[in-house]
Amino acid sequence: MRVKKTLVVIGNGMVGQNFLETLVASSAYTDYQVVTFCEEPRVAYDRVHLSEYFSGKSAEDLSLVESGFFEKNNITLHLGDRAVRIDRDKKQVLSQKGERIAYDKVVIASGSYPFVPPMPGHDRDGCLVYRTIEDLEAITGAAKNAKTGVVVGGGLLGLEAAKALTDLGLETHVVEFAPRLMAVQLDEGGAAMLRSKIEALGVTIHTSKNTQKIIDGDQAIHKMCFADGEELETDIVLFSAGIRPRDDIARDSFLEIGQRGGIVIDNQCLTSDPDIYAIGECALWNNQIFGLVAPGYQMARTVVAQLEQKEAAFLGADMSTKLKLMGVDVASIGDAHAKTQGALVYTYQDGSSEIYKRIVVSADKKNLLGAVLVGDSAGYGTLLQYCLNGIELPENPDALILPSRSDESVGLGPDALPASAQICSCHDVSKGQVCEAITAGCQDMGALKSETKAATGCGGCTALLKSVLDCELDKLGFEVNTDICEHFSHTRQDLYNLVMVDEIKTFDELLTGHGRGRGCEVCRQAVGSILASYWNEYVLEKQHLGVQDTNDVYLANMQKDGTYSIVPRVTGGEITPQMLIALGEVGNKYGLYTKITGGQRIDLFGAQINQLPAIWDELIVAGFESGHAYGKSLRTVKSCVGSTWCRFGLDDSVSLAIELENRYKGLRAPHKIKMAGLRLHTGMCRSPR
Ligand SMILES: Cc1cc2nc3c(=O)[nH]c(=O)nc-3n(C[C@H](O)[C@H](O)[C@H](O)COP(=O)(O)OP(=O)(O)OC[C@H]3O[C@@H](n4cnc5c(N)ncnc54)[C@H](O)[C@@H]3O)c2cc1C
Repeated sequence: MRVKKTLVVIGNGMVGQNFLETLVASSAYTDYQVVTFCEEPRVAYDRVHLSEYFSGKSAEDLSLVESGFFEKNNITLHLGDRAVRIDRDKKQVLSQKGERIAYDKVVIASGSYPFVPPMPGHDRDGCLVYRTIEDLEAITGAAKNAKTGVVVGGGLLGLEAAKALTDLGLETHVVEFAPRLMAVQLDEGGAAMLRSKIEALGVTIHTSKNTQKIIDGDQAIHKMCFADGEELETDIVLFSAGIRPRDDIARDSFLEIGQRGGIVIDNQCLTSDPDIYAIGECALWNNQIFGLVAPGYQMARTVVAQLEQKEAAFLGADMSTKLKLMGVDVASIGDAHAKTQGALVYTYQDGSSEIYKRIVVSADKKNLLGAVLVGDSAGYGTLLQYCLNGIELPENPDALILPSRSDESVGLGPDALPASAQICSCHDVSKGQVCEAITAGCQDMGALKSETKAATGCGGCTALLKSVLDCELDKLGFEVNTDICEHFSHTRQDLYNLVMVDEIKTFDELLTGHGRGRGCEVCRQAVGSILASYWNEYVLEKQHLGVQDTNDVYLANMQKDGTYSIVPRVTGGEITPQMLIALGEVGNKYGLYTKITGGQRIDLFGAQINQLPAIWDELIVAGFESGHAYGKSLRTVKSCVGSTWCRFGLDDSVSLAIELENRYKGLRAPHKIKMAGLRLHTGMCRSPR
C-alpha cells in the first residue's frame, strides 16, 4: 500500500476551506493525509455575508462547510485549537492544545485581524472590532445598554459596521482619518456623493479626524479626543481601521515576513520554506496583501495545482468591487483614481437622483482603465468586462455612463464577450468554460454553478452568469428551466403540492426530503411563503424565522433607500380623530413622509430600522396594530360608508368590512389579499366605492 504524505492546513477560514475543497476535487487528494487546525470554535463560515447575522441569519446559515465534509473526506479537524509553531527542523506543527503533527507540506491560511490603532484607551471595555461571529455577539450585547456608537474607519468594512450599529438602534457616527470615505476605492466626487447619501440615512460622518485618545465620557461611557481639539462622546467604539495579516505563526517559525507584516510568498505561493505555502489574507505577494476572497481562492488553486505536479502561478488579482453600503450602490473598478499616465476622465453627476459615475480611459480612448459608480451600479458588469478583457470602447466612451437614449445601446450583451472573458473572478471561470458546461448539459444555474463553481464565491457575477446561460440556451434552442433554484428541481407549484401532500411543516424538512444543499435566498423565501400560506403558523417562530423576508421580520416594508415604511391597520377604514392625531404626531416626531394608500390606510415612509420599535410602541399605545402591508396575507377590507351615513345605503357595510378584516387579518396566502365589504345598495349612491 502506498504511504500517504501528510499535509497540514493552518486556518479553516474562507480560503482554508476553499483550499480543502479544491484539494479534495483534485488528483493530489489521494496522495495526502490532511490535518487542519481551526482556531475559531466553529468551522469556516461566510465572512463576506457576516452582516446578515444581524438580519436573522444564524451561524449555521452562514457556514460554508457541508455537514459531514471532514468525515467523508477523511480530513482530521482540530476545532478550537490554534497551531502555535512550525518546528521546521523536525517538520512538525505544534498546537496550543498540545498536538504535534509531523508534516510533509504545510499550507498557512491564517487570514488577518482587524487593526486597532494603539491610542491610549483603545482597549477599554466597549471598544470592539468586526470580524468574527463572536465579535458580532459582543457588539449585540454591548448595544443593549448603549445609545450611541462610533465606528473608527470610513472604509468599506467601516461603513458595513456602521450599518450594523444603526440596525441595532444606536445613534451612529463614523470617524475617518482621511479627508473622505472609502479613500482606496473612490475618487473625491464619488466619495462626496456617498457621504451625502449616508448622512441622509442618519449617520454622522467626521472626516480628517485623528483620534488621539479615548477616556471616560461625561454623558456617555467613552469620550474620543481628536487632534484638532474636538471631542465625541459614545457608548461603543467599533474599530474598523483596516486589516493586518495574521503572520504570528510564521514569525515564530522564522519564515520571511514583509517589512509591514505578511508572510512573503512567491508566484507559486511558497514561503521562504519550500515545504510551506501561505494563501489568503495572511500572504504578502509582491508587497501586496489582498483583502478579498477572490485572490485567496486563486492562491488556493495555485497551490493545489502544484501538489498535482502541474505548473501554476499566482500573478496578482483584480481588486474591483461592487457592493451595497447601507442601501447605497457603490462600485469601483481598476484604476479608479486615474493614476495611469495620460489617462482621460469622464464624469456624470445627477444631483437630484444622487448618482455619480466616472470612467477612466486610456489616452487613445480605446480602453477602459477604471470606473467609480455611486448611487447606481447597474453598469458595473459591462464596465468590468470592458476593463478586464481589453474590449475596445465605443467611439464616445462617455455614452457608457450617460443616461441611455432609446436609439442607442452601449451595454455589452453576453454575445459581445469573447470566450476568454472572465465571468467569475473568485473561481476564475471564463465565458468559454461556462459555454462548454452549458453545451455539455448544464441547463440551469444550479448545475452550472456546481460544474463551474462560478457565482459561488462572493456572488457578484450571478446576474452575468444567468444572462450567459439564458443566451446560450436560447442559441441551442432549449427552453429555459423553470426550477425555482438549484436547491430544488421543482417549480413553486410543485413545492406547494409537496408541502400539502407530505404535510411538511418546515423548510429543513422540505430540503431534506426533496432538495439539496443548504438553500438560498430564492428558495428560502418562497418556501417560507408556501408554509405560511398552507399551515398559517406564526411566521416569527424560531423554526420559520430564517426563511422570512426582511419585511416580515421587521413588520415594515424596506424601501429603495434602505429605510422602512409602516402601515398600521385601519380596520374597514374606520378611524377616530384621536388615532389620526396619533399618526400625525408619530409622522412629525420621526420626520416621516405620509401617504394615503389605495387600501384606505396611512403609510408612514422613511423610518430607520432602529426607529421601528419606538414607532411601534407609540402606535400600539394609540390603539394600532400591524396592517401586514408587507406580507402575502390579508391586508385590508375596503368598504363604502354604508347605511349608517349614506342616504341610499341599505346595509351596514362598514361593520361587515370590520368583521371580515378582523376575522381574516394576517391570514397568509400565496399572494396578498385585499377585499371590499360592500352590502346591498340602491344604486343611487354617488360616493366612490
Ligand atoms: C464584514 C466583512 C465583510 C467582507 N466583505 C467582503 C466582500 O464583500 N467581498 C470580498 O471579497 N471580501 C470581503 N471580506 C473579506 C473576506 O472575508 C476575506 O477576504 C476572507 O475571509 C479571507 O479568507 P482567509 O481564509 O484568508 O481568512 P479568514 O476568513 O479570516 O480565515 C482565517 C482563519 O484562520 C484562523 N487562524 C488564524 N491563525 C490560526 C492558527 N495559528 N491556527 C489555527 N487557525 C488560525 C482564524 O481564526 C480564521 O478562522 C469581508 C470581510 C468582513 C470581515
